[in-house]
Amino acid sequence: MKFVDVKEVFAEIPDEITLAISISGCPIQCKGCHSQYLWEDVGQELTPEVLSTLLDQHFGVSCICFMGGDQDPAGINLLARWVKANSKVKVAWYSGRGKLATQIELPNFDYLKLGPYDEAAGALNMRTTNQRFYQVADDLHLEDITHRFWKL
Ligand code: SF4
Repeated sequence: MKFVDVKEVFAEIPDEITLAISISGCPIQCKGCHSQYLWEDVGQELTPEVLSTLLDQHFGVSCICFMGGDQDPAGINLLARWVKANSKVKVAWYSGRGKLATQIELPNFDYLKLGPYDEAAGALNMRTTNQRFYQVADDLHLEDITHRFWKL
């Protein structure tokens, strides 16, 4: 699994300073995708060693978010487990699938976004969106907090 770039972002996860890692090789291929540069399997291999370096370079972020990786949810789960075991930052995953992959172990995650981009329904910040954003609660139930992205 490879990544193309990383960015510190403020809007992707509510109340967190997030290091967003854009993972390539996206198999979802949503119509109207604004990130088609992520469809091909390009970039640098994402390993625990690379994650460690990125966390050092971006010291102070409160969350790390894997943007994509639907071609290898087991790999995402392993990377998330590594972050949990080796840092204090929270872990998020933006998946383009409507259902959570069975390989995902909830204790490794704090936030999960599910759903493909649907042009007609709009992005996560639209009330009409088909996508759902969940916080993983202490008892591991998924709390739908999608409304946090909507303007009042
Ligand atoms: S999941 Fe994201 S990157 Fe993949 S096609 Fe859909 S919008 Fe594009």
